[in-house]
Amino acid sequence: MNEVAAHTTVIAGAHVATMDADRTEYAAGHVVVAGNRIVAVGPGPAPRIPGARVVDGVGCLLTPGLVNTHHHLYQWTTRGLAVDDSLFGWLTTLYPVWAGIDAPVVNVAARGALTRLARTGATTTADHHYVFPRTGGDLLEATIDAARTVGLRFHPCRGSMDLGRSRGGLPPDEVVEDREQILAATEAAITRWHDPAPDSMLRVAVAPCSPFSATAELMREAAELARRTGVRLHTHLAETLDEEDYCLERFGCRPVDYVESLGWLGPDVWFAHGVHLDDADIKRIGSSGTGVAHCPSSNARLGAGVARSRELRRAGAPVGLGVDGAASNEASSLLEEARHALLFARACGGPHALAVREALEMATIGGATVLGRAAEIGSLEPGKLADLALWRLDTLAHADIADPVAALVLGSPPPLELLLVDGHPVVERDTVTTLDEHALAGETAAAHRFLLAKTR
Ligand code: ZN
Repeated sequence: MNEVAAHTTVIAGAHVATMDADRTEYAAGHVVVAGNRIVAVGPGPAPRIPGARVVDGVGCLLTPGLVNTHHHLYQWTTRGLAVDDSLFGWLTTLYPVWAGIDAPVVNVAARGALTRLARTGATTTADHHYVFPRTGGDLLEATIDAARTVGLRFHPCRGSMDLGRSRGGLPPDEVVEDREQILAATEAAITRWHDPAPDSMLRVAVAPCSPFSATAELMREAAELARRTGVRLHTHLAETLDEEDYCLERFGCRPVDYVESLGWLGPDVWFAHGVHLDDADIKRIGSSGTGVAHCPSSNARLGAGVARSRELRRAGAPVGLGVDGAASNEASSLLEEARHALLFARACGGPHALAVREALEMATIGGATVLGRAAEIGSLEPGKLADLALWRLDTLAHADIADPVAALVLGSPPPLELLLVDGHPVVERDTVTTLDEHALAGETAAAHRFLLAKTR
């Protein structure tokens, strides 16, 4: 077996939804992966490559790996709390629990959340980590270590809060940091971890948490830092009416006006949520090329509302999907976000508000665009990175649905036959290959009990 063939995988016979610019699909097509890149995509039988691994894709749908644009991995061990509350009530309950996190807990939580993402077809994820207790250790390193263990492409966003309750913010003072310390730690994280290479497995972003937990000075200086170092900017925005009221009362303007005044609109910025946007807000977000991480399940779980994803897309904003933190979306399945994005859009906007293939688009190339990686991931095309998901659709749950994309988006989550990240198998036959999921379940439950005992 020669060296090239040893690292070559051929997937043959699947329905291939490429998500390329023409949205090409092949009813029975093939994809060839060599090393960490896709080298061939086309209709019909695959070329014979002696020594290559051949995966039988008959009965399956092959899509690009899904891209998750917003998460808080550490929340995996604080799921199931404040289950009937609004965002501000939920946050107020959870801040004291989160004050107890440390590197071992965050590593367990991140492995749990990342494993769940992999099992639901995600190959790339952002993580917005914004709670850094003084004695917690290196929490960013704990998440990066977890991403390497599970094997996902990772965009950790160095989050931050410097606006505690005593200064008019929402979080208690003990979970916020000093602004200078935040900026120094964020720059150190970029220097240490950020990899700008096209096939990067790790890119850092700068991410003060929200208008009600970060000061204007921090937001402004964070934007300057990101632009000086060439990384992206991320924050929560326009999630709830409570936040809108907070901005109107404190700053005398709406959330988008506020962040625009701090330099936070542009193609290097993406906002989580964007639920409460008026027509003028949407126009400015769209014309500036600012991205939005649409998180339908979390927004519904907290009763925040439904983002106007159709209008945002029409205005020109890149829109991706996000599971959001596991504590406000216990399911944490990116595929479920595609389904919910479609259902909620239609429930609010009628039967044509979002098409099945537009939902898949947001979950793949849309998310890749939001993270600034549309040239590298998000579609199945020769030269792109080998991040792909092979979904089994010939079981009772889907076998009679003729359109495989409709089966994936509208049906229940199918078994995942294969998930490749950077050419490496992370899921095979619906089982994660990189760790012991059963043992991990026990670790996450223990970490949850540890945190709650610490809080009382
Ligand atoms: Zn969030």
